[in-house]
Amino acid sequence: MDQNDIRNAMQSQIDLSTAPWHGCEQGNYLFDSATMFKRISPIVSPTGNEEFAAAEVVVCRKCGKIPPFFAEKMGDCPAEHVSECKK
Ligand SMILES: [Zn+2]
Repeated sequence: MDQNDIRNAMQSQIDLSTAPWHGCEQGNYLFDSATMFKRISPIVSPTGNEEFAAAEVVVCRKCGKIPPFFAEKMGDCPAEHVSECKK
């Protein structure tokens, strides 16, 4: 099961009209999609060359950083890129 299957399964079981919109801690509800890259060193790269693997993330429009609820799902988001928006 990939990410899309999980999302589709969730959407067919949950009525999203009753779910609250989730905002950043400073009351910002708009997020932009952004891309981060992981550098794969030549030593472990399957091609033997330096490679970059793209990862889709979301950033808060207010502070330009990754909101904590998304960073938690990433697991390895660098602390300096996590939004410090606080209530
Ligand atoms: Zn923010």
